[in-house]
Formats: sequence, C-alpha cells, structure tokens
Amino acid sequence: MKIGVLALQGAVAEHIRSIEAAGGEGIAVKRTEELQELDGLIIPGGESTTIGKLMRRYGFIEAVREFSKQGKPIFGTCAGLIVLAERIEGQEDAHLQLMDMTVARNAFGRQQESFETDLDIKGINEPVRAVFIRAPLIKEVSPSVDILSTYNGEIVTARQGHLLASSYHPELTDDYRLHAYFLDMAKEAAAAGAKE
Ligand code: GLN
Repeated sequence: MKIGVLALQGAVAEHIRSIEAAGGEGIAVKRTEELQELDGLIIPGGESTTIGKLMRRYGFIEAVREFSKQGKPIFGTCAGLIVLAERIEGQEDAHLQLMDMTVARNAFGRQQESFETDLDIKGINEPVRAVFIRAPLIKEVSPSVDILSTYNGEIVTARQGHLLASSYHPELTDDYRLHAYFLDMAKEAAAAGAKE
C-alpha cells in the first residue's frame, strides 16, 4: 500500500518511518498530482493554521476532498485532526470539513501542554502509547462517527468510515499499531474499489 504524508509542514519523516515499519510504502506528498498514485493519505501534526493556509495555496483543499470522495482513507494526527474537522471551536472557518465533528485546539492548557499516556483503542488489543503535544480534543461528533478512545472522558481517537483522527502523535513512538490499523483501512478501501 502506498501511503502519502502531506509534506507542507509538520512531522512528515516520522510518519513515513512508522508506515514503513508497519509494512507500507511511505511517500512525502508536496504536489496535488502525487495524490493519484496513493492508497491513503496522512495529514501530520504541526500547526493547523499554517497547514491549512499552505493547502489552500497549493490547491490541496479541493484535491484532498476529491481523494476523500473516492473513498480513499485519510488519517489526521493532532494538527491534521483539526484540518479534517467540520467545525473548529471559536473559529469561523474550518479547513477540509470532511469529518463530522467539532474540535477544540490546544485543549489541555498550560499545565499539560505535552505528556504521554497509554490509551485503550477500540480495534487494537493492548494499550497504545500516545504522545500529546499542545493537542486538540474532539468535543462533539455526529452519530456516524465511531469513538475509538477517550482520555479523562474526552474523545481523542475517532473514525468515520474511511476517515481516522487522533489528538496525539502516534508517529513519535516505536508503536506502529495505529499505522498498521490505517494500512488495513487502505487495504479494505483498495479491495472495495477493485470490486467496483
Ligand atoms: N496546537 C496545534 C494546532 O492547533 C496542533 C499541535 C500539534 O500538531 N502537535 O494546530
């Protein structure tokens, strides 16, 4: 499976390393034409306002919406989760507006700007190590969104069909199981597409 990592800003190399460790092929994506060869796309952590601005500038908003329409999986981590969201608390404009949820940016406050914890994730057997850095939270989801994990009662991992989102950075540990989970989503989507 060829998995692209949107390489406009943020933690790109780490995602590529994790995808390869999980058995996929990781590709840094800088131009919209490169989306065509992909089976899935990761939007990494970084700074969501910057990533959104660069996506607009280089035509990625429309191109990624089209990619999503084809049923191809997209995984947003941290800032990438914000970029995927339909609504951002306290902001007029959201970015891709693909995943039916409301997110809050920098939701952990100063005391807890960055921390690590073990999370129980639906669909993965043992707890997964998660690194939170100025992380967002998922405040509200539509009924079509499946909540995969919570931390202190707040939603931090969710899936809506072919869209996956995590508040934290799964690429900053040696635990590749969430990347393996995403690879499985890409395999399922490719198999479904091949049947059509
Ligand atoms: N706080 C960042 C934002 O709002 C996200 C942080 C991250 O990706 N680690 O865009």
